[in-house]
Amino acid sequence: MTMTTFDALPLAAPLHRVLKQLGYETPTPIQAQAIPLLLEGRDILGCAQTGTGKTAGFALPILNALELNPKTPRSRQCRALVLAPTRELAGQVGKSFTTYGKEVRFRQTLIYGGVGAHPQISAMRGGVDVLVATPGRLLDLIDQRFIDLSAVEFFVLDEVDRMLDMGFLRDVKRIVSMLPAKRQSLFFSATLAPEIVSLAQTILHNPAHVSIQPEVTTAERINQSVCFVDRQNKRNLLEQLLQEQNRAKEGKLTIVFSRTKHGANKLAKSLCIAGFPADAIHGNKSQAAREKALDRFRKGLTPVLVATDVAARGVDVKDVGLVVNFDLPNEPESYVHRIGRTGRAGADGRAVSLCAEDELEYLRDIEKVIKMPIPRWDGHEWHEEALAERHLRGKSHQKSPQANQGGQRNNQQRQGNRGPQSNNRHAHTQQRNNDRNQRRDPAPVR
Ligand code: AMP
Repeated sequence: MTMTTFDALPLAAPLHRVLKQLGYETPTPIQAQAIPLLLEGRDILGCAQTGTGKTAGFALPILNALELNPKTPRSRQCRALVLAPTRELAGQVGKSFTTYGKEVRFRQTLIYGGVGAHPQISAMRGGVDVLVATPGRLLDLIDQRFIDLSAVEFFVLDEVDRMLDMGFLRDVKRIVSMLPAKRQSLFFSATLAPEIVSLAQTILHNPAHVSIQPEVTTAERINQSVCFVDRQNKRNLLEQLLQEQNRAKEGKLTIVFSRTKHGANKLAKSLCIAGFPADAIHGNKSQAAREKALDRFRKGLTPVLVATDVAARGVDVKDVGLVVNFDLPNEPESYVHRIGRTGRAGADGRAVSLCAEDELEYLRDIEKVIKMPIPRWDGHEWHEEALAERHLRGKSHQKSPQANQGGQRNNQQRQGNRGPQSNNRHAHTQQRNNDRNQRRDPAPVR
């Protein structure tokens, strides 16, 4: 079913009023697909990420049900449970429910770790309509009998791929085992790897599949470029980019991605010294510190936010005009998530990736995933032509199997013939696995 305006949707009048106030006229593609199915009571398997409008896609039908069929929730119970991987994302989802449900009488609360549990426990004492939670703290409070999931009517699993990345699979399964069999379930993930699909099969009943291709829409709206640069010159180049961004008319905010928490701190500090007010967010910071940093960023008081991947998940700030990959992500899918922080809700954005010698392989993987070469930008004084050429050669290498074999032979000779396993590609994969293990950011919060 396709439709062009929200007016065509059978949503309750208070929701239509709010949509008008917000100036939303046209449903985004994921909303156009998901909302009618959810209003019919179907389960959904959705392939979509943040920035696509998926939050309204599930919040509006849930709020519609709460409006049409109001009930007083019993103590410790909730009618809708939304599970999100991080505190930030849970906060964003909670905020969306508040916004979209402004004219609906309903109660909601957030449950996540890293803050005191008492306010959460007392909020649950009265029961709520909507509970948005991260898995660890939710299970803690269930185990202590402060929360009871036996009355859940709507169950939403958001950003499942990230949830599994963070090691929440067992927690999610335990939570699902406590839900009543009769419920409507919604399952969203940016990727649908086999393990994700098999988890979905254990949760969903005859689901409708909805999917949008965020990579394509994102790539179209965002002006992407890559700079080949020596690692030691990355800071100079970043400062040049920030100066340019300061001169921009709109979208003055910048998010800079760092691979490590330590790197994020160091970079934020050095940017401040260089005259660019910056702050860092990552999993080691307290919830209060992260919220404060985000708030100051949103208001433009610190227009540069240095972030690690997981901490930036769910950060939805409209005026981000520039995303800089100070370090290239070692997981190509993160590239798409990162650049999606700019170009929110139809706005244009710019994403610049700084690629040093040891990141050429990451760049190649990213270009494979986004299925296009990232245009190079060499309008800066630190451009390394030799790296750009190596990147090009590497690509033609991959295209020709013969050249590739030759490359492996040379490699083996250089490495004293330790066998085909010891080529660069293998070392790279191992490095990536090591990085992945070190990168658990933040550690699942209880
Ligand atoms: P989400 O993917 O849910 O994080 O939403 C991304 C952004 O798009 C949020 O800032 C929403 O407020 C905005 N948004 C969602 N749906 C619409 C819509 N139909 N029209 C305009 N903006 C929207």
